[in-house]
Amino acid sequence: LLETRSLNKHFGGLHVTNSVDLSLEAGEIHCLIGPNGAGKSTLFRLILGEHRPSSGTIAFAGEDITGLHSFERIRRGISVKFQVPGVFKGLSARQNLEIALQRRLAGAALAREISRLLDFLGLGAAADTPAGSLSHGQKQWLEIGMAIALEPRLLLLDEPTAGMSPEETHLTGELVRRLNGEGMTVLAVEHDMAFVRQVAHKVTVLHLGRVFAQGSIDDIVADERVAAIYLGQAHA
Ligand code: ATP
Ligand code: MG
Repeated sequence: LLETRSLNKHFGGLHVTNSVDLSLEAGEIHCLIGPNGAGKSTLFRLILGEHRPSSGTIAFAGEDITGLHSFERIRRGISVKFQVPGVFKGLSARQNLEIALQRRLAGAALAREISRLLDFLGLGAAADTPAGSLSHGQKQWLEIGMAIALEPRLLLLDEPTAGMSPEETHLTGELVRRLNGEGMTVLAVEHDMAFVRQVAHKVTVLHLGRVFAQGSIDDIVADERVAAIYLGQAHA
């Protein structure tokens, strides 16, 4: 579904994305891990079109999207939930979803989809709570709801479980698996290995801007080279 080829990004003298080849199969949950500063968020911004690559290409659904504006990429079915919250704090969960959904639905269909999504996100009981008063986990789920309102084919999640309790993290994993069960392809940056184990079909380790290792979660945790980069010992 998504393919990056020899993707490079320089910020001045800093080589942040280094010849990255990443392939996502339609229908997979792919987790991107790596130490702080590895270039994970930058890769997201390249895929979304918020940064231009210094060189290399990005293809989505068989089409070269390297030169497309992020708006065009969203229209083609790429959506993202960043770490920074983007919900309206003074509006309820229901009203926030209404804003996100009214770009594609109206009337009774809109009302039905808001209810369905609130249940899907586990926010049914909190539907009329102002977003600013929701728990941290509920806010994150609402953010995911906003990101999936346009029914993307590819959902990018940047650290979806940051700051969550183990219970909230587990519920987020279940939410991601249900989304995937409905056919959504997911690329998630994640630090929580329990979450990665819960959801990932495939794991890519990014280190110093390069793809350092790739495989199943079992391959990755058994890889001593990967363990070493987290201890700051390996060289790319
Ligand atoms: P974290 O786990 O901390 O979120 P990350 O893997 O997401 O890290 P990035 O945010 O992609 O890492 O940053 C990779 C490197 O690129 C860092 O050294 C960062 O300082 C640098 N960087 C990111 N964005 C910019 C920018 N707009 N201008 C200059 N340098 C940048
Ligand atoms: Mg990041």
